[in-house]
Amino acid sequence: MSNCRYCGSTTYGSCPHSPYKVHEHIEDERRCEFCGSSTYGSCPKSPFGIHRHGHGGNKCVWCGSTSIGSCPKSPNKIHER
Ligand SMILES: [Zn+2]
Ligand SMILES: [Zn+2]
Ligand SMILES: [Zn+2]
Repeated sequence: MSNCRYCGSTTYGSCPHSPYKVHEHIEDERRCEFCGSSTYGSCPKSPFGIHRHGHGGNKCVWCGSTSIGSCPKSPNKIHER
């Protein structure tokens, strides 16, 4: 079970301490930092509208790809790890 980096809560959803006003869990590359989903794609809780997973596993945080270069899901259009 991970915790919000701003308030320590184990829940997902609105967070009074976060700059995005959404709890942000960081250490789990298998889950979305904003909603806890293990999938990739559009996210109802993400400030970007897209699931963003934690860093780790040498995978893109936006799409889970291990390749380098342009990313169809990233707001910056580039894979980020
Ligand atoms: Zn929080
Ligand atoms: Zn999400
Ligand atoms: Zn990507």
